[in-house]
Amino acid sequence: MPTKMRFEKALLVLVVLTAVAIVGQRWVLQESFVIAPDEGFDSRLYDDSPSGGNSEVEVLANSGEYFEWRCHLREGFAYPHCGFVVQLTPSHIKGVDLSRYQRIKIWLDYTGPNDSVRIFLRNYDSRYSLENDETTTKYNQLEFSPALDQNYYEFGFDDFFVANWWLREKAIPPNLSHPEFANTVALELQTGSGHLPGEHHFVLRRIEFIGQRLDSEDWYLTIIIAWAVLILLFLGYRILELNGEVRERKRREQELLDVNQLLDSRSRELEAKVKMDSLTGAFNRDGIEESIKTGLWEWRHSAKPLSVVMMDIDHFKRINDQYGHAVGDDILAGISALVKQHIRETDLFARWGGEEFVLVCRNTRIRYAEQIAEKVRIMIAEHRFDHGLQVTASFGVASLTGGQTVEQLFKAADDALYRAKEDGRNRVIAETGD
Ligand code: GH3
Ligand code: MG
Ligand code: MG
Repeated sequence: MPTKMRFEKALLVLVVLTAVAIVGQRWVLQESFVIAPDEGFDSRLYDDSPSGGNSEVEVLANSGEYFEWRCHLREGFAYPHCGFVVQLTPSHIKGVDLSRYQRIKIWLDYTGPNDSVRIFLRNYDSRYSLENDETTTKYNQLEFSPALDQNYYEFGFDDFFVANWWLREKAIPPNLSHPEFANTVALELQTGSGHLPGEHHFVLRRIEFIGQRLDSEDWYLTIIIAWAVLILLFLGYRILELNGEVRERKRREQELLDVNQLLDSRSRELEAKVKMDSLTGAFNRDGIEESIKTGLWEWRHSAKPLSVVMMDIDHFKRINDQYGHAVGDDILAGISALVKQHIRETDLFARWGGEEFVLVCRNTRIRYAEQIAEKVRIMIAEHRFDHGLQVTASFGVASLTGGQTVEQLFKAADDALYRAKEDGRNRVIAETGD
């Protein structure tokens, strides 16, 4: 998949996630602690008899769905009361950290003479609590008036205060007198501070503490970090990918270059082959063309002399007749090798046809070309070829003169060669133009 598409997909996913994270923040981050009949907490009812009162409490139902109890508050004690306690943990000193929660929701039906109900969150702290005295756990209190038609009540933890009578009774110093929930061991639901005698009827269905795992600021920061990480990842990945692409492109270019070079050298080889004579390794007639063109150009533009030497082996037919065509071929190749070894780099040696050769000497005056021809003549004449054979050759030399065509130049050299044959062979004749 192309990077762009992958990026677009990741972008889409992140946009959707961001939308979900923003819209669903409440659900995603919310955590709750639930007290309900089926949650398996220890609970019990109590009345004021231990403090000397006459009130009585009785369970009406403890079904899986609600706790129901009735309280008969009777006079005869200053603060008649009764209540319901839920132990949050099996331990009396190691409670639950409710400080993580911000709100409390309570599903309660209450009927009775009181117009209020109290909730206590009892916090154990060794600075003021004693292990063997339950009354020393802090009374974080909230008092509210239930309405008949209300399904549930919701309060903030900020709404709690510490019961004054408890602070007084336990002589709690001011620095410890604020509400605390970090080690809440129990929750209590108690009749209100009016202490009105009569029948109080409670149906408690559920209590929920609601908090947020992460505050909104951190939540948005997380979203921003996720975006930054995606962008960084994408940029990093893109850089790596671009590097890879550049490397790949370079590799391909190099490959192409290599192939081209190979083709070039191959075609140069073929071109050279086409201009070569296969038997003697000398140039063929086509091979002369370039040298002649250069020579002509040099002659026209720089007045450099251009000479040609025509060479024909003497009585070659006899060799063929006497020793066979194959030996004749060997001699032709031998002569070619010999001549090529002893001429200058600028001289071009070619097979003109049969046992005739031509030497194109650029930038060479006729006299010097004549000397070259003479040197070659002696070299051939003195050389012993295969089978101990000796041969001679005749030479015709000519130089390009004003108004002459290349054809006329070769004709002049050929004429000179003819004269060399006429004059008895194994000699050099220069066509000096006179
Ligand atoms: P001269 O040039 O001295 O007058 O005598 P010649 O015997 O060399 O006469 P001419 O040049 O007319 O004959 C050329 C002979 O060279 C004819 C042919 O048999 C022979 N020849 C031409 N090409 C080849 C070749 O490629 N291989 C061989 N073995 N012989 C060749
Ligand atoms: Mg000939
Ligand atoms: Mg000949």
